[in-house]
Amino acid sequence: MFPLRYASEQLAELALPTELLTKISIYGLLGTMEFITYVGLGSNLGDRELNLLRAVAEIGKIPESRITALSGFYDTEPVGPVSQDSFLNAVLRLDTSLTPYQLLADLQRIETDVFHRERTVAQGPRTMDLDLLLYDAIVMESEILTIPHPRLHERRFVLVPLAEIAPDQIHPLLGKTMTELLRDLPTGQRVTKI
Ligand code: ADP
Ligand code: MG
Repeated sequence: MFPLRYASEQLAELALPTELLTKISIYGLLGTMEFITYVGLGSNLGDRELNLLRAVAEIGKIPESRITALSGFYDTEPVGPVSQDSFLNAVLRLDTSLTPYQLLADLQRIETDVFHRERTVAQGPRTMDLDLLLYDAIVMESEILTIPHPRLHERRFVLVPLAEIAPDQIHPLLGKTMTELLRDLPTGQRVTKI
């Protein structure tokens, strides 16, 4: 359980969906503010396995948050326009009282400071990519953050590890479970558990 992080007057200043603000206020009053989130991890540069393990350790240090599930590691075929080495992907569940923006900032800080990620080629090779896939049942879209992650349901390299640790989790926009979304995907996109 985490301490109440916001006074109610501060909440109004956060650009968050009303539904989430209401939950934060109520859970905060009850002293039980905790949201279930899922984070996708991917690496295709350097020692990929070491990178993933290190990212898990770093995410475990994010304040007001704890890792409550971790998928296996999957060797996956790169998707998209850039020809590059295969990725190692995983998904973890993080229970947190941080807001979506605070969590994104912490994830980006890890990408930049710990992994010295350089954003040279869009969708290109990277030491570490951390994506916020789901945050509670929240749906939101802003310039810097879209939840659920907009391409989650199209990507086997996300859905396979996600369905491993959260098979019955409902996609709040599509109304289907992760297992159903995975079943709906066309074949292709090689994803192999290591
Ligand atoms: P990608 O993961 O699509 O290859 P990047 O990791 O470079 O690309 O992210 C590009 C931008 O996506 C980030 O600057 C971030 O603000 C934005 N973004 C929007 N929604 C999300 C999300 N749910 N998780 C992570 N980043 C997101
Ligand atoms: Mg990303």
